[in-house]
Amino acid sequence: MIPINQPIIGEEEIELVKKVLKSGLLTEKSGCGYYVSQFEDAFAKYVGSKYAVAMSSGTAALHASLMAVGLRAGDEVVMPSFTFVAAAEAAIFAGGIPIFADIDPDTYCVNPESVEDQISSKTKAIIPVHLYGLSADMNPILKLAREHDFVVIEDAAQALGAEYKGKRAGSIGDIACFSFYATKNITTGEGGMVTTNNAEYAEILQEIRNHGEQKEYSSVRLGHNYRMPEVAAAIGLSQLSNLPRFLEARRKNAEILGERLSGLEKLGLPVEPYDRKHSWYVYTVRLKKSNVGKRNKLVAKLRSKRIGVAVYYPVPIHMMPYYKERYAYSKKVLKETMTATRQVFSLPVHPKITEGDLDFIATTLAEALK
Ligand SMILES: *Cc1c(COP(=O)(O)O)cnc(C)c1O
Repeated sequence: MIPINQPIIGEEEIELVKKVLKSGLLTEKSGCGYYVSQFEDAFAKYVGSKYAVAMSSGTAALHASLMAVGLRAGDEVVMPSFTFVAAAEAAIFAGGIPIFADIDPDTYCVNPESVEDQISSKTKAIIPVHLYGLSADMNPILKLAREHDFVVIEDAAQALGAEYKGKRAGSIGDIACFSFYATKNITTGEGGMVTTNNAEYAEILQEIRNHGEQKEYSSVRLGHNYRMPEVAAAIGLSQLSNLPRFLEARRKNAEILGERLSGLEKLGLPVEPYDRKHSWYVYTVRLKKSNVGKRNKLVAKLRSKRIGVAVYYPVPIHMMPYYKERYAYSKKVLKETMTATRQVFSLPVHPKITEGDLDFIATTLAEALK
């Protein structure tokens, strides 16, 4: 099977892991060991934010961020429904209520007009998701945030290396969250990072990561154990140094695939608006004017040819059993979300994909569409 994504681990990662293991310092009780601080510094520098705080996962990063901005019971957090479930979980664990907005059908990212429709006097935060590696349209969202006084938390889990109007994802909102899960653009196995330019948020995030402690055994706020282990941070540091190379390979693969698929009229190809730079986490296409049955049949056919096609996401959050019963608050029908969920599928463009793989994917897809 050609996998949709796969970790790329080199000798440097292996050597660094050995070094950490031999040192005996596997974690630092404050949450900020040697490799964690190195990784945080390098990460903040790369993203272009003042602070970076490492976490144990992207989900932990989202939860800690919502706690750090002072979410209170009953506060509303606006987010797209067409995304991974972590943002909704984070809102609920932080005491809030997820409110779902619709997406833009061309970029699949949250539609700022739909965000505006969902704003109420209880709105405390919005979580735009940079889906598939493409930044959401941030300027209108930042404008709404200023007008209505809520915070913007970027979910940049899929978008490390993406840009919006010359700024890297993670440096645009008040806070941003990243994931280093095994499929992401860089990985530490499990891991996450929060970036921010706000010194107070950074300090609070460090406390939340480590049981709300400023001094040991003297918790000043509600916290958690969201520390990143040293082994993970060492892997992350090495991965980050390879990121420019990874991104270049992803972009090249996406360009080749785009060329090979450009003649297929039934397919809607991903867009890269002029003011944004994609990080090509996955290459997501749409089977136009189709339904869930046709899409699923096509996906099954491609999988039978050993192409690791993925559907992100087959069920939007507000339609999942748990959320449908309790949290399906939306003033409007999420029309574009429901259409996309039935029509999209994602193809691999990760750095290990060869030009031969891309030819095979394009030919097989063209054949299957006949
Ligand atoms: C992966 C992902 C997360 C969660 O990250 P974990 O590290 O798996 O907890 C959150 N949001 C999006 C959009 C993701 O893709």
